[in-house]
Amino acid sequence: MVLRRDTSIQFLKGVGPKLGDLFARKGLKTVQDLLEFYPRSYEDRRAARQIASLRAGDVVSLKAQVVNVQSLQMGKSSRKMYDVMIQDGSGRIRCKFFRVPYRGYFERFTPGKEVRVVGKVTEYRGRLEFHHPDLKDIEPDEEVQDDLIPLYTEIEGLSTFKTQRLIQMAISQMEDESWGEEILPPSILKKYDLLTRKSALLKIHKPEPDLVRDYLELKSKAHRRIIFEEFFWLELFLASRRSGFKKEEAPVLKNDGHVREKLIKSLPFQLTGAQQRAFEEIRKDLAKGSPMHRLVQGDVGSGKTLVCFLAAATAAESAYQSTLMAPTEILSEQHYKTAKKFLEPAGLRVELLMGTTKTAERKRILAALAAGEVDLLIGTHALIEDEVVFKNLGLVIIDEQHRFGVAQRGLLKEKGQSPHFLIMTATPIPRTLAMTVYGDLDVSVIDELPPGRSPIQTRVVFENKKSQALDFMLQQIQKGRQAYIVYPLVEESEKIDLKDAMSEFESLKVQFPQLKIDLLHGRMKGEAKDEVMNKFRAGETQVLVSTTVIEVGVDVPNANIMIIEHAERFGLSQLHQLRGRVGRGEAKSFCILMMGYAVSEEARARTQFMEKTTDGFQIAEFDLEMRGPGEFLGKRQSGLAGFKLANLVRDIQILQQAREAAFDLLQNDPSLSKPENKDLKEELLRAHGPIALAGIA
Ligand code: ADP
Ligand code: MG
Repeated sequence: MVLRRDTSIQFLKGVGPKLGDLFARKGLKTVQDLLEFYPRSYEDRRAARQIASLRAGDVVSLKAQVVNVQSLQMGKSSRKMYDVMIQDGSGRIRCKFFRVPYRGYFERFTPGKEVRVVGKVTEYRGRLEFHHPDLKDIEPDEEVQDDLIPLYTEIEGLSTFKTQRLIQMAISQMEDESWGEEILPPSILKKYDLLTRKSALLKIHKPEPDLVRDYLELKSKAHRRIIFEEFFWLELFLASRRSGFKKEEAPVLKNDGHVREKLIKSLPFQLTGAQQRAFEEIRKDLAKGSPMHRLVQGDVGSGKTLVCFLAAATAAESAYQSTLMAPTEILSEQHYKTAKKFLEPAGLRVELLMGTTKTAERKRILAALAAGEVDLLIGTHALIEDEVVFKNLGLVIIDEQHRFGVAQRGLLKEKGQSPHFLIMTATPIPRTLAMTVYGDLDVSVIDELPPGRSPIQTRVVFENKKSQALDFMLQQIQKGRQAYIVYPLVEESEKIDLKDAMSEFESLKVQFPQLKIDLLHGRMKGEAKDEVMNKFRAGETQVLVSTTVIEVGVDVPNANIMIIEHAERFGLSQLHQLRGRVGRGEAKSFCILMMGYAVSEEARARTQFMEKTTDGFQIAEFDLEMRGPGEFLGKRQSGLAGFKLANLVRDIQILQQAREAAFDLLQNDPSLSKPENKDLKEELLRAHGPIALAGIA
């Protein structure tokens, strides 16, 4: 039988429906999927080692025997750590696992079992160990390959060797034409010195032993080609969206600036240089006839909101309406208050619309909105409901946009005729990521805080320092300050953490009967939340125990101390955002990060980085290196193709090249109508649907 790329894996010799099902559950259905199931790493069998000869940093392969398997509880959480001790004739070493690869994974490692271990040797407290190595059964029918061999992610019940054999077999049965056409244009292959697709696929599954270093680092030419292509699709998509935006016609928001000037004059402070620069960029965009798509990035408290209000004032001057959507009611209300304070004196009418807005009020607002009397409508996602109709919407502002999907953004957009878009984010995003995630947007960076803020002092401590931390908090409260105590709320263990926050709340009340303490969490109804928040803001409560709902944008200048429990569970960028809730007033501010005992060395080092800097961009870069891009991508990523091989940190140079190639290509052939680009256009359409072609059709 002749294999084609779309032949179902089931039909491969030795597979059948049962195995086919196993693959299908991992998303591998066709021969093409199988070929794109890239090796996770490689093993150099020629370099097999003895345990006694290992040194920290070595990437090795060795044969050993299981001594025992132990599991340890990690702190108070329900998570477990696994510890597999192995030995060979020369010594013993531990293999540590901080998560279980899949259910039942450890059950087969009974004492005495022969295993092969591949991994990187790490030093921890003066001892060598493996963290998450590849631990595999030595199979009786395993061919003795003294060679460089590819290792695949284990699919339940299917060893990496079986996968390897299967892929090799599929490759040997492929006819020349079943590899399909080369899709990247020859000019790009040549310019960037790339292998053809076929040759890259062959070589990634059958590595060249002479190039062992390149393969172990996933930097072979085969890798480069495949990674380039993954980035290229994304960048081509972004480039086409961008050129699509440029073609739409948007209102020209340009007038004599009198409203804006009035607003600026009424401010009790001067705009920072960074605010002025950002606004200048926005002002120029608004004056063009094509819609602005701009991201305003800046640390918490850098004054992004005000810059966006200046944009709204500019729109109002040309008799266009603006809207500002925020992810939570708390935040919407806060924006509303600030907007009233700053914009009303300049003559603008501001309204607030949320899910909880009462019917009569809602009617009144909607009528005024449709009549064009409202200049700025602020609200939650309630803004995208059908009944919300503007007279002439010219500017859409979105706060914390990665919490909204691209789809929601699109819905707001439909309420006007190609309105301008301004997106604020307080999550500083590393430059490399901004390029991929926001590659279709222009970016303004507000990299300067308003003067007079004293930097937040941060300390990382273990759980046993809790009472000292609370004492310190008490001292601050006695000086008239307020405090936050934050509990992590990670999705998987939401219930446990909620319980933690609640029981903490109860015990604090007993411990400090003299204090007014309140509790805020995500399961509370909007009104209850608001009440808690308003009391805290008004200074009626002194301690706010909360889950991470306070993360976004809450502004209480008198709160100057924050204690974060289980800080190791948060990403640094999230910690940074949380920490930004303090340090908003005159008083010196403090952040105490508490860590559980059972944290890994890595988590500890990572968390301690927070003591070193308050610069969100530095933190973001560091976080990206340590934890990968998941945290930054959020919902926005869901609309884009995930990467199978590419890594945004490791492969940054390839990303830059792919971006250049994609943007150049569209520059030279804006509608991808040249014959050599026909396949590209089809592939783009296949991968992203008509949305991708909006720009190039
Ligand atoms: P962000 O939205 O970036 O978190 P905000 O716009 O909410 O920051 O500003 C934080 C606080 O700083 C607000 O109370 C705001 O009024 C104030 N603020 C904004 N710009 C300035 C400035 N140039 N000088 C002094 N204070 C400012
Ligand atoms: Mg803000």
